[in-house]
Amino acid sequence: MLTFSKEEALIASQIKKLTHEAGSHHPNIFTLARELPQLKIEIDACFLSNPYATDLFLTYLTRELLDTHKIRDVLEFYPSQNQVIAAILADHLAVSKNKIFVGSGAIEIIQAILHNFTSKKIIINLPTFSPFYEFVKDEVNIVYNHLHKKDNFQLNIESYIQLVEREKPDTVVLINPNNPNGGYINLATIEYLLDRLRGVENFIIDESFIHFAYEDETYQLKRAVALTKTFENLLIIKSMSKDFGIAGIRAGYAIMAEEKRERLLKNGYLWNLSGLAEYFFKLYVQDEFLKEYYEVRIRYIQETKYFFAALATIPNLKVYPSLANFALVEILDGTSAFDLGLKMLLKYGIYVRNCADKIGLKGEFIRIASRTKSENKIIVQALKDILSNP
Ligand SMILES: *Cc1c(COP(=O)(O)O)cnc(C)c1O
Repeated sequence: MLTFSKEEALIASQIKKLTHEAGSHHPNIFTLARELPQLKIEIDACFLSNPYATDLFLTYLTRELLDTHKIRDVLEFYPSQNQVIAAILADHLAVSKNKIFVGSGAIEIIQAILHNFTSKKIIINLPTFSPFYEFVKDEVNIVYNHLHKKDNFQLNIESYIQLVEREKPDTVVLINPNNPNGGYINLATIEYLLDRLRGVENFIIDESFIHFAYEDETYQLKRAVALTKTFENLLIIKSMSKDFGIAGIRAGYAIMAEEKRERLLKNGYLWNLSGLAEYFFKLYVQDEFLKEYYEVRIRYIQETKYFFAALATIPNLKVYPSLANFALVEILDGTSAFDLGLKMLLKYGIYVRNCADKIGLKGEFIRIASRTKSENKIIVQALKDILSNP
């Protein structure tokens, strides 16, 4: 069992209070640092982004906006309207611009879809990203589909199809790879599911972590985007926050049937993106940027694979299979997720996500994000130290 001093126990109760106040999302490191200045947070392994992609974006931003003073235009003037930014993305995504809806982060799109299109019943796999059940309207019936520990939290395809056929929801959601466990459904299976479940009005696939996934050693990106041509009911949601490392500028988009997009635009969302998010999307479709992005993407995927393999060698931890940039880790020696997270923070300045509040997870789980190579090494060493010398 881990032991804590009196001062440490006091910090523990303050962290509990801050976590409670933050609701279903954990306090970020800036809140922790402000409220608990005695903490020295060195590594944020709670937040799920590719740090190398942030470096890349910052290089472009510095060169193109700051050094040239063009940043003034971005700040002073209105950004383009929703459909203008959507049109920028159309060629790159190879879908009609009339099917693209941009959002101030994917979270705004999730809210828009759930509030406008989901009216009766939704099926949600657990564990999940909490806004998918928190944002549904009160009158909507939520049916939970539990992913099981014994299946490594992998979706059971045939029983899922049976559940959907039995419940007849108007909306289903697949997060691919899933948050918080990183479970991945390959593209052929996604297509099979879409084919079997044509009757569902809104088939949502959240691809917010898709750039971290791969199906073979070529690390080629596999996306369901092209399937929106065949399946009218498919809505793809994409956050740029995690795999492009730009959560602060709030950029996301969705691909959906033209009439659904029209319905959303009729109700608002005119200038919902910031100038910086518009700048990002213009950059995102440029060959030069993309080429460099794919380099940092692959480098990060390879380092993440190595990191997960190192975590798996630590006694008393079970690392669940993940094709995202984080791993769901179960603690097997009776230590609570809270105590392990607290020790990581107090002794090593490492912040991990305690998953105690995640519905659908029975046991003690933490979620650890992959960071830079040197940070990952420190995380592995810290866990080894704690778990072998409690
Ligand atoms: C973080 C996250 C989002 C929200 O992303 P933003 O673009 O930052 O709003 C959406 N879906 C999933 C699965 C996420 O983990």
